[in-house]
Amino acid sequence: MAQARIVWDDSFTGYDFGVGHPMNPIRLDLTARLCRSFGLFDDEAEIIAPDTPDDALLTRVHTPEYIDAVRRASKDPDHADARFGLGTEDDPAFRGIHDISARIAEGSRAVAEGVWRGEVGHGVNFTGGLHHAMPGAASGFCIYNDAGVAIDWLLEQGVERIAYVDVDAHHGDGVERMFWNDPRVLTFSIHETGTVLFPGTGFPGDLGGPDAQGSAINLALPPGVGDAGWLRAFHAVAPAVLRAFRPQVLVTQHGADSHFRDPLAHLSVSVDAQRIVAETLHDLSHELCDGRWVALGGGGYEVVQVVPRTWTHLTAIAMHRPIPVETEVPAGWLDDVAERLGEEPPPVMGDGTSERGRIWWRSWEVGYDPENPVDRAVMRTRESVFPHHGLDLWFD
Ligand SMILES: [Zn+2]
Ligand SMILES: [Zn+2]
Repeated sequence: MAQARIVWDDSFTGYDFGVGHPMNPIRLDLTARLCRSFGLFDDEAEIIAPDTPDDALLTRVHTPEYIDAVRRASKDPDHADARFGLGTEDDPAFRGIHDISARIAEGSRAVAEGVWRGEVGHGVNFTGGLHHAMPGAASGFCIYNDAGVAIDWLLEQGVERIAYVDVDAHHGDGVERMFWNDPRVLTFSIHETGTVLFPGTGFPGDLGGPDAQGSAINLALPPGVGDAGWLRAFHAVAPAVLRAFRPQVLVTQHGADSHFRDPLAHLSVSVDAQRIVAETLHDLSHELCDGRWVALGGGGYEVVQVVPRTWTHLTAIAMHRPIPVETEVPAGWLDDVAERLGEEPPPVMGDGTSERGRIWWRSWEVGYDPENPVDRAVMRTRESVFPHHGLDLWFD
């Protein structure tokens, strides 16, 4: 059995909104190359290149009218229908936009299938994690919601409890919307507050619909939060609610735009801290759901210094070959980046912010500081959500 099913095909760099758009597909190419230079795409991985799925896969979470609009934009990008969010500044249309977006969604579904059927240990689709796509509209650089498609496919297989954990700097609004009133799906999103950042939603009082109160969990952080605050906040909420919910499958979104170098968001997190959260989620997948873990990519707009390292760490963790942060970035990859982009690439796999991968942060049990804005944000989420899960406000 392959350790991990990994979705990759060089054609995915065709998910390209054009020159000047922040989501430069070179981030995917550089990630795949860095994974390869660490040998992560070898025989112990099952690399899959998904075909275009039938529309029936997409209509699980998207309206037929929207899919039609994407198809039309795909053939005639100059006349994309802005009523569906297409042809806009965030989501410009391009030839083939339907096909490639649908294949990304099929990739996440295929990873979910492998994990659920026990065909592979874990699954990774770093091209996916397109969490802003709405049932009836493109949004935030996302056309089809691959996470939503994968989760809905799992529900149809009879899975009763799925947890979706989203650590992107932006609120995971599309996935939350799709399962808002479904108690079988727990969505947790930690992000920079919507008072400052797109999409302007994801507040602690947003708890899910009337049949699913407490199934949507939002932890909205103030701008500028660094490693210690981000790790404290994440660990003060996510593990406790996941343990209470007991998911059968864990789907995680690893947008790398929480990084201090990211040009779009204003959090201040390092690759080392992102790697710690990936390890925590991996550990939780073994503790709670026999390792049934679907790991997705997401945002991330520092396409050379940040995204390739963060998602290579993620892939390595899923392959059970974690890469120490002090490891030197392979020379071949460095030369390639320097040559093609004329940019000074990162020399090692971490940002120098940790002690051999470890970062100290205060656990919630040592106390709550009402003067600290991160603590206040955590407390608001715990107060809103923990009673719905029978959890204590003060202890983990
Ligand atoms: Zn594992
Ligand atoms: Zn994002």
